[in-house]
Amino acid sequence: MIARFAPTVITGDTTRLSGGDRAALRKLLAAARIMDSLYLRQVWAGNVALKRELENDTSTAGRLRLRYFNINMGPWSTIDDNEPFVSGVPQRPLPHANYYPEDLTREEFSAWLTGLPEEEQQKATGYFHTVRRDDLGALRAVPYSEEYGDELEHASRLLREAAALTDNSSLRTYLLKRAEAFLSNDYYDSDLAWMDLDSPIDVTIGPYEVYMDSLFNYKAAFEAFITLRNDEETARLSMFSAHLQDIEDNLPIEARYRNPRLGSLAPIRVVDEIAVGGEARAGVQTAAFNLPNDERVVAAKGSKRVMLRNVMEAKFQTILAPIAAAILDSSQLHLLSFDAFFTHVLAHELMHGLGPQTIMVDGKSTTVRKAMRELGSALEEAKADISGLFALQHLIDRGILSRETERPMYATFLAGMFRSVRFGIHESHGRGVALQFNYLMDEGAILHNSADSSFAVDFDRIGDATRKLTSEIMTIQARGDYDAARALLQHYALLRPAMQQSLDKLTSVPVDIAPHFPLAE
Ligand code: ZN
Repeated sequence: MIARFAPTVITGDTTRLSGGDRAALRKLLAAARIMDSLYLRQVWAGNVALKRELENDTSTAGRLRLRYFNINMGPWSTIDDNEPFVSGVPQRPLPHANYYPEDLTREEFSAWLTGLPEEEQQKATGYFHTVRRDDLGALRAVPYSEEYGDELEHASRLLREAAALTDNSSLRTYLLKRAEAFLSNDYYDSDLAWMDLDSPIDVTIGPYEVYMDSLFNYKAAFEAFITLRNDEETARLSMFSAHLQDIEDNLPIEARYRNPRLGSLAPIRVVDEIAVGGEARAGVQTAAFNLPNDERVVAAKGSKRVMLRNVMEAKFQTILAPIAAAILDSSQLHLLSFDAFFTHVLAHELMHGLGPQTIMVDGKSTTVRKAMRELGSALEEAKADISGLFALQHLIDRGILSRETERPMYATFLAGMFRSVRFGIHESHGRGVALQFNYLMDEGAILHNSADSSFAVDFDRIGDATRKLTSEIMTIQARGDYDAARALLQHYALLRPAMQQSLDKLTSVPVDIAPHFPLAE
């Protein structure tokens, strides 16, 4: 079980940081550790005691159990549908996690909620309150600042100390506001300050994602990402941004479907991770995230996408490189390149903001998302991928990107498709990739060698096929044509035998990385 996670060093270059920032970093790494212990408590009421018990077991099996516990931050194997690997623990999902009393039913919760004044209802259903019983068994919303008071006071102090040490004012503002939020339980101002963060040290710390609350998806789990801004990629991103309107103006769709004036797009930050804490430590490692989730903040200021470049690179070396070795035609294997991979990931993210968004259907204004309903995300992911290739080809043809990046881009994309469908096509990314793969096969742009079940790019055809599929998907989106979307997905978004056969060769490739953070350790 452990061997599926390849041990990997994750670190960054701190030599370019100022002395003040380096001292601040030490405080932030300590604060991230506090998120670990808070998250352990949030997972399950018995989690902390179980961990202590595992730590006292010095047998070989005991040590391995502890190691796997630390990978998952609990006794359930997250990549095996949360199967327990320590005997005597309850089944997961534990709907209540450790956010609600374990005997609470949904009915009791809603009855309680109905009787509460508006302000108390907000707390009961909010991100930052647990629900507990008082001595008489009555329900009560407890602010995180009280439930986790000691730890949060400690974390708050570390953030204030870091704020005093850094010389970057946007970081100082965020840290001071977040330190305040840990004590006041009001995170709004600090979430706004996070949106404005532009600093050599980039930090995300606090309660964020609600997935673990499978009762209601209300309660946020603690996590931390301590990262360094990647200045080279940030520069590349602004180069791309300067050409987005030109790409939009040349999309292979009817002119009336193009947007003559792109608005400002959601901000993207490219960073290198040096430590994580809390939920970010558990199971499969995050390679990119969008935050905040709080709708009030999103309405006021939008959200931001953070891309963890060195985590992506580690996954590329550990997972994509062996996949490519198994499935790519040997004459094209030398084209595999992380730079090509990452450039396409950036293009994918940017292309989500291009092409049809607000559309007219039957004389009424609507959005692509609404018109495509449950098919929307698979189609949108396929669009971002394929039009990402289209956009980069456009920049190559314009002479903005080097001609030498052309072949690596397509060969790396081909190998990457196998990574995306490796665990099935049940979710949008995998489904969208299967659609593209089969379409490109049928266009003769991907060639199959059945003798060794490898695949190769036909470089004479891939450019045209990419343009054609971009056109097809975006036109369906522009027309809000749900039936055409369904037909396209039904025909192409399948695992055909040739692909399945190659996937079967990948069983020994690691599933993910198990990061070591030398700077934190
Ligand atoms: Zn996407």
